[in-house]
Amino acid sequence: MIVVKTPAEVELMRESALMVGRVLTEVARFLKPGVTTQQLNDLAEKYILDNGAVPSFKNLYGYPFATCISVNDAVVHGFPNHQLLKEGDVISVDVGVLKNGFHGDSAYTFVLAPSKGEVLKLLKVTKESLYLGLGKAVVGNRVGDISNAVFEHTEKKHGYGVVRDLVGHGLGRRLHEDPQVPNFGRKGTGPMLPDGLVLAIEPMINMGKKDVYHDKDGWTIRTRDGLPSAHFEHNVCVRRNRPDILSSFEGIEAAEKSNPYLDSSYY
Ligand code: MG
Ligand code: MG
Repeated sequence: MIVVKTPAEVELMRESALMVGRVLTEVARFLKPGVTTQQLNDLAEKYILDNGAVPSFKNLYGYPFATCISVNDAVVHGFPNHQLLKEGDVISVDVGVLKNGFHGDSAYTFVLAPSKGEVLKLLKVTKESLYLGLGKAVVGNRVGDISNAVFEHTEKKHGYGVVRDLVGHGLGRRLHEDPQVPNFGRKGTGPMLPDGLVLAIEPMINMGKKDVYHDKDGWTIRTRDGLPSAHFEHNVCVRRNRPDILSSFEGIEAAEKSNPYLDSSYY
């Protein structure tokens, strides 16, 4: 069942979504070789709790951490751990917060410098595809228009692998609401997008083939060919003329650019 939000609810959701951006900004400031994803998780969790919110992911469906941090061949749902990050690592950080009864859910992929050109291109194209998908989040379109925009840019145009088993989603009082938002599909298909629908759009794009598998921890999704994957996620409210993007990468990108250990030369 699709639940649309009132203008007041959308403002509360914006607050949650922007908080996720601030959490990811803290992560961007802290990232460097030698830190662990457990440290990143702890920093994020502390920030969320200190700011009067609750981590959305912790204990959801039994997930044990506040964040998902997926390194290199891990696509999503990576467990924070004590391994030291190193130069060239591709680190996707996915964070959710619950505040005022509404969830924010956003993700960003970082790379520790120096990085390879092919990795930077993957990040660039994945981020571009997110904005192309967001651009379709207007009244009159269908879910398939978003899905198709992501797919055309990533798999069709650049030959990357679009993960089929994982999808974006509606967002609100629950972290995962209807409709599902796949990153592949045909234009003009799927549910209509009503005014006030809030979506989490999140391309999960593999540098190589689309195939993934579940790690033995039961959660982490990895690429079958072992190549890296990228994940960017924004929250957006469907409106009549243009999409209202509730989350923001502004602080994250500024922190990324001023952190000499991160490679942001791709944008
Ligand atoms: Mg997420
Ligand atoms: Mg999500």
